[in-house]
Amino acid sequence: MKLQKIIRPNIAKLKPYVCARQTNLKGVLLDANENPYGRFNRYPDPFCREIVGLLSEFLAIPGENIFVGNGSDEIIDLLMRIFCEPNKDEVIVFRPSYGLYKVCAQINGIKVQEVDLDENFQMDAGRTLAAVSPQTKLIFVCSPNNPTGNLMQDSEILELLEKFKGIVVMDEAYVEFAQKPSLASQVARFPNLVVLRTLSKAWGGAGIRVGYCVCDNELRDILCKVKPPYNVSLTSQKAAKELLTNKRFMLYTRSIILGERDRIYSELRNFGLKVYPSDSNFILFKIGGAKAVKKRLDKAGVIVRETSIPSCLRVSVGRKFENDLFLSELKKCLSKVVFIDRDGVILYEPQDDFQIDSLKEYRLLPGAIEGLKRFKGFGFKLVMVTNQDGLGTNKFPKKNFEIVQDKLIKDLSEGGIEFDEIFLCPHFDSDCCNCRKPKTGLVEGFLNNTSINLKESLMLGDRDSDMQFAKNIGVNGFLAQTNGNSLFLFSKKLTS
Ligand code: PMP
Repeated sequence: MKLQKIIRPNIAKLKPYVCARQTNLKGVLLDANENPYGRFNRYPDPFCREIVGLLSEFLAIPGENIFVGNGSDEIIDLLMRIFCEPNKDEVIVFRPSYGLYKVCAQINGIKVQEVDLDENFQMDAGRTLAAVSPQTKLIFVCSPNNPTGNLMQDSEILELLEKFKGIVVMDEAYVEFAQKPSLASQVARFPNLVVLRTLSKAWGGAGIRVGYCVCDNELRDILCKVKPPYNVSLTSQKAAKELLTNKRFMLYTRSIILGERDRIYSELRNFGLKVYPSDSNFILFKIGGAKAVKKRLDKAGVIVRETSIPSCLRVSVGRKFENDLFLSELKKCLSKVVFIDRDGVILYEPQDDFQIDSLKEYRLLPGAIEGLKRFKGFGFKLVMVTNQDGLGTNKFPKKNFEIVQDKLIKDLSEGGIEFDEIFLCPHFDSDCCNCRKPKTGLVEGFLNNTSINLKESLMLGDRDSDMQFAKNIGVNGFLAQTNGNSLFLFSKKLTS
């Protein structure tokens, strides 16, 4: 790899600053204008040689391939400044991923190409390579990815490493929590691979700001040239040594965290939420009204993270009592919902394609009021979802619908029932709208804004399209007998 050709020309030409402790760490030290008194009076080793030695042993990788930084965040910045000419060069980052790559590029005046991950948050090497331009110098791949938690597929990473002429930065901040090993050993095979690691996560050292990368030794030398002279403080180096010489503590706490991660995962699934599998020490989950939930949790003193992914929150795995509090507070935010079809379930429907458009046809089905009352009494929200073909056309004027609907609302209200939401689609099948059941357009806003326990929620309807609708929104569908007393029967069955 011709590193000198792909780094910025000013960096290639750079004569680095030589700091005092680069050469002499011992002796009568009168070369660095230090104070001879105190415990913190000396500059630290600029190359973190002890830490590199310990990491080299831990990773079974030569020290000449290891560079230690002030957190891996510092290394992200250094790589951008080494490879990318401001206002000219580009980096590729994925969406969604760790937000710092983009911000760091913007701070440095570097163009950012964002490539979307697929619906499973996987990277597509082909699409990524198609986004590469002659100016693309770095591709940042986060695996396990923050905030989604998943590992990227080996085949896609390999394809990038083989075909991309620039540097592939694999950010493995969370790799100790993953099922698959780090790619650090692959640096010997791919000189264009840089693997970012950190003591901030599995090692429990976020406060000391020590991260490192494994890379080609020529690149390590360039990183040493460009970094601030004493980038990792004396106290941080001491603390890093303490952490790295206690691998048992790391392994022990990691196993507890992994156990808690699995517990939180299954609890969240039990809450009827969509939860994304995690190879890291955090979990991403989908919840309607995410912003409001975040606020409510804040109020209860439980702080989770909002993400750029719609309706998704990210929670880090804490200690058991912290996770318990998170789970119990979250549970309080969730509601159960009964989605109910109107015609044939609440109201008598003379025939399939008939609109109930006058009070002559108005007939509440037996047990409907009792059934709705029972659901309400058991804490369900009531949501009516009904297709009213051609509502508002000459064949089915709005007025005629309203006469019936108003009567229904009045009767329900006298029975002590109020629907939380009423959604109706006025279109014909041939209109190809996005709201006619089994499509979900009608309730999308409601689903996005309401925190729902999908497992305990249900749809009650008398047609296959209702059952398909239930499937589409992720709740159980219960098929009612048209014009029977199913509403009552199901309310008893499902709340007993
Ligand atoms: N990479 C990723 C993917 C991260 O999530 C984080 C921390 N949020 C970092 C790097 C930064 O790690 P460090 O503490 O080593 O700077």
